Amino acid sequence: MGRQPKKIVIVGGGIAATSCVDEVYKLQPSANIVLISSSPVVKKAFQKVQVTNRTFHFGVEEAQQQDIPLQVQLIIGTVKYVDFLAQRVTLESGTCYLYDKLCLCTGAIPKSIAPNNPRVLTLRDTTSLERLCNALRSCNRIAIVGNGGIALELVYALQGCEIYWIIRDTTIGTAFFDEETSEFLWEVFEDSTRKDSYTGATIDTVEPIESFQEDDFIKEPLGFSPGPNWLYYEQNSDDKGKPLSRLRGLLSAKKVNVLNNCHVLSVHCNHVDSKDIFDSNIQPNSWPISVQLSKYPHSLGCDWLISAVGVKPNTKFLQSTPLLLYPEEENEGIVVNCRMETNLENVYAAGDCCKVVDNECSKWWFQMRLWSQAFFMGKVAAHSLLETGEDYSMYFELFTHVTEFFGTKIVLLGRYNAEALGPDFEIITYQTPRDIDLSERKLIRIVLYKGRMYGAVLV
Ligand SMILES: Cc1cc2nc3c(=O)[nH]c(=O)nc-3n(C[C@H](O)[C@H](O)[C@H](O)COP(=O)(O)OP(=O)(O)OC[C@H]3O[C@@H](n4cnc5c(N)ncnc54)[C@H](O)[C@@H]3O)c2cc1C
Repeated sequence: MGRQPKKIVIVGGGIAATSCVDEVYKLQPSANIVLISSSPVVKKAFQKVQVTNRTFHFGVEEAQQQDIPLQVQLIIGTVKYVDFLAQRVTLESGTCYLYDKLCLCTGAIPKSIAPNNPRVLTLRDTTSLERLCNALRSCNRIAIVGNGGIALELVYALQGCEIYWIIRDTTIGTAFFDEETSEFLWEVFEDSTRKDSYTGATIDTVEPIESFQEDDFIKEPLGFSPGPNWLYYEQNSDDKGKPLSRLRGLLSAKKVNVLNNCHVLSVHCNHVDSKDIFDSNIQPNSWPISVQLSKYPHSLGCDWLISAVGVKPNTKFLQSTPLLLYPEEENEGIVVNCRMETNLENVYAAGDCCKVVDNECSKWWFQMRLWSQAFFMGKVAAHSLLETGEDYSMYFELFTHVTEFFGTKIVLLGRYNAEALGPDFEIITYQTPRDIDLSERKLIRIVLYKGRMYGAVLV
């Protein structure tokens, strides 16, 4: 192990930062660690179930100050500026901290399609989930925009209000799945709801007047991203300890309308009085919000619109510094190699805020903003900044993700979606027929490239 660093400053209170803190502390209990986080509660990940040698099911829990090792100085504050030459971080409060080693774990912030519209909810953290929960208490119709994991989980969980799911693509869940898997999951979804769910479109006639840019983002980084079961947190202190559903069961029936191959052009707030919004005799065209869509001549009226259109690395405060950010417009992640080293000496980055650019990563691994990756990146950063010389290439050997969509366990391995393989790949799929019991339903999809297995989807 190398020379003991004088002061290690880790910025962030999410999974990447806490796994870095824990690993540094484990490797060097006497290390001088300062953890700076905007959020008063920090998030910790733990490996819940080891599915295979390299595949883990993750759990995430909230940690209070007392759960952080005593030796770690926890500072609640937001880093405003980093002077990389002077090795100094400055908080919004004006307080400065010098560092010998710095690890940036500032996460990502969600893009919002209409950030200033009070009827548009952008899910980011536990506070925004509380807002969603309150909004759903008396809600007749909701529109969800986006086709990633958050949208998938919401559509499954929301009950009792009519849902309009607006997706750019032809099929659902394209961030994760090919068409075949997507169709299989949709069948599972329909059968599992066992209600008269249907697809179609309902359009009302309120004309929109506002427009927005898709690259408008919410202004402030809030807390950390929520953990697994983020939709099913306890609702208040009375419920503590009970596995109470946050959303499921608030209301009772489900109607889902998928509006595919279309996107939102503009969102208009109709300024309906709040007492009218929840009136069951609500008049057509008097929805609080109307959404104009690319494919339809009229706008869609609803109570709330949930924006789930992806995230962007939280690196704005690092612009105009010598730290190298990925040049792509939508993804200005901090460029790191697979040792989490940035272009600057003594500066590391991990989790959603970084972009791994390294030829040493295997062709079966790619970056996705997930708990599991934030967790191991934090660990790798700890080894790098302590110069342990440990070989961590195993973390970049194979992409693995264990998750659940529509109540169904899903394992994704390697190049499971055949991305970046060119035209010469083959797919072998096995799936059980639709008429067998839901619990027995399976899909196995293997991606072969030049006779070798490159990836798999197991549902
Ligand atoms: C609604 C939602 C659902 C998700 N569901 C899943 C899922 O099912 N499975 C999955 O694998 N992943 C999921 N994710 C993604 C996952 O949560 C993230 O990939 C992961 O939490 C990233 O961890 P992180 O530590 O990099 O960032 P974060 O958890 O976002 O933490 C960033 C931390 O940095 C702090 N911070 C930011 N800026 C500053 C600053 N300037 N100064 C000081 N502190 C700062 C923040 O307060 C926060 O504590 C979901 C994300 C969201 C938003």
